[in-house]
Amino acid sequence: MSKHQGSSVTEILQPLYIDDADGQHWDEQCELLVVGWGAAGACTALEGHAQGLDVLIADRFQGGGASAKSGGVVYAGGGTRQQRAAGFRDTPEAMLDYLRHETQGVVSDATLKRFCDESVANLAWLEGHGARYEHSMPPGGGKTSYPKDGYFLYYSGNELVPSHRGEHDPAPRGHRTVAKGQSGQALFGHLRDACLRAGIRTRLQSAIRRLVLDCGGRVVGAELWTLPAGSSVAKKHARLAERAERLQNFRPAHCDGLRAQLSQIEREHARPLLVRARQGVVLSTGGFIFNPQMMREHARKYLRNFKVGATGCDGSAVRLGATVGAASERLGQVSAWRFLNPPLCWPKGVVVNRQGQRFCNEEVYGATLGAPLCEDHGGDGWLVLDRKLRRQALWETLTGGYWWFQTVPALLLMLSARKGRTPEELARAAGMDAATFGRTLADNNAAARGLIDDPQGKSAYSRQVLDQGPFYACDISAGNQAYPMGGLTLGGLRVAEDSGAVLSAEGKAIPGLYAVGRAAIGVASNLYVSGLSLADCVFSGRRAARAVAQARPVAQAPRAATACS
Ligand SMILES: Cc1cc2nc3c(=O)[nH]c(=O)nc-3n(C[C@H](O)[C@H](O)[C@H](O)COP(=O)(O)OP(=O)(O)OC[C@H]3O[C@@H](n4cnc5c(N)ncnc54)[C@H](O)[C@@H]3O)c2cc1C
Repeated sequence: MSKHQGSSVTEILQPLYIDDADGQHWDEQCELLVVGWGAAGACTALEGHAQGLDVLIADRFQGGGASAKSGGVVYAGGGTRQQRAAGFRDTPEAMLDYLRHETQGVVSDATLKRFCDESVANLAWLEGHGARYEHSMPPGGGKTSYPKDGYFLYYSGNELVPSHRGEHDPAPRGHRTVAKGQSGQALFGHLRDACLRAGIRTRLQSAIRRLVLDCGGRVVGAELWTLPAGSSVAKKHARLAERAERLQNFRPAHCDGLRAQLSQIEREHARPLLVRARQGVVLSTGGFIFNPQMMREHARKYLRNFKVGATGCDGSAVRLGATVGAASERLGQVSAWRFLNPPLCWPKGVVVNRQGQRFCNEEVYGATLGAPLCEDHGGDGWLVLDRKLRRQALWETLTGGYWWFQTVPALLLMLSARKGRTPEELARAAGMDAATFGRTLADNNAAARGLIDDPQGKSAYSRQVLDQGPFYACDISAGNQAYPMGGLTLGGLRVAEDSGAVLSAEGKAIPGLYAVGRAAIGVASNLYVSGLSLADCVFSGRRAARAVAQARPVAQAPRAATACS
């Protein structure tokens, strides 16, 4: 076996039960142990510190995780300063009304209401820790998959889509952290600096491998496996990890090899460190898109998707939770990002499945389109344009000043499209059923001419007659590497919605254990719209920290015959 082979995920061990937490030798102690230093972990740590807790943060790498690679968009509303400055009158009720439609009961109405009620304050809290938000909106109505530099407020979900927007006037709620380029790095940088300014201790290159429980089943600490600080192996580990994140978009297979090397270094050189957490352990280790086994087991339909996450997204929390009887939910729920915008005119085309049947409104948010595409149509589909619309789309793409990661794939998609002089010829070229595709096109054109309602509810703005050959079928399938479709796991540990306490299959809180961000079920776990995950990191992180602060240190629990025997 070569050094590039083998598992690349953190090894998780069975829990360590101890008789006497006070008499135990601990390598390090704290009140709140936060495992995973992404956005959720950083928010937990900052709130915990503000609540007066002695906090220790541990991370398998240097911190940052998916949060630092992200777009740094935070979904916020209900009347933020930025919304008001841009001339929008949003309310928590309008936000709740809209999000109810997207979240479909993944959290209770009371929790969703709290999320909306606290939204203005949570964005201001981020600002208080150094992140900046502004009200400038991109041209073209504020709708895009990601705003260009200089624009920081936009419609980041389905707010403008009639069937999704609800009763209230739409308001833009995507608040992109002010920065140049992808803003996630800046957002995490502010949170990291705030943690360090607050004097919160960190243990880097230290991965949690097991939980430590007392005999009553309370989580009282964790065993971290840590690389010797400053050693040559630690430096090599840091170099390889940084490279794996940087090159993932361009050389995924090479990066899988780097990940295997990282695990190999950890297996050979990391040493155990026993950490006591007197009031709580919070798992903030992210999702599991980089755990191939979990993906095969739970989310098979998304194996071809481009991985949206970071190396640490290997399901550590779910696997650790399972060792102490924790329940997980929605592990098959993956947000599949098939954005059709920019160019802004693409939604005027029609999206069809392999048979040529239309199945969604092309104006919807990327993950709203990706969901039926992957769940119901095998991840395969076409975006059909006619000559006029393709020309318009090429022009917009070339002159719109979009991001390179929007322009290059859009051009590749259009330039590699199947072509047919007539709809029948295109159906043949793309392997579609000619009669089905013919009906799809006829219905689209009738709707665009105002003769019938659009079968998928597309707004008048995006309806366009497609009758000018040649016709083009652009391959928007998950497997098209030139036009990658992202996948972000949304499932995680089941938690109590008032505290973030991890729950067992019977719905009982596992004492001393909490989960936040993408390690847990949260507001974003049904359908992600841009910004909802980071907003949930803030909401769930602060909630868990407050709950830990309120949990009084418990005296040694009475010995239970089963646990320590
Ligand atoms: C390219 C991209 C763009 C995105 N854009 C947005 C956006 O604009 N808005 C939005 O809301 N969402 C966005 N997302 C999704 C969002 O970034 C994530 O869902 C979110 O950051 C998850 O945060 P987290 O704190 O739960 O996990 P992470 O940020 O992934 O942090 C988890 C941390 O835990 C550490 N860790 C993992 N396992 C262990 C272990 N065993 N022991 C110790 N430490 C461990 C990791 O090293 C990591 O630092 C984007 C994601 C990507 C990749």
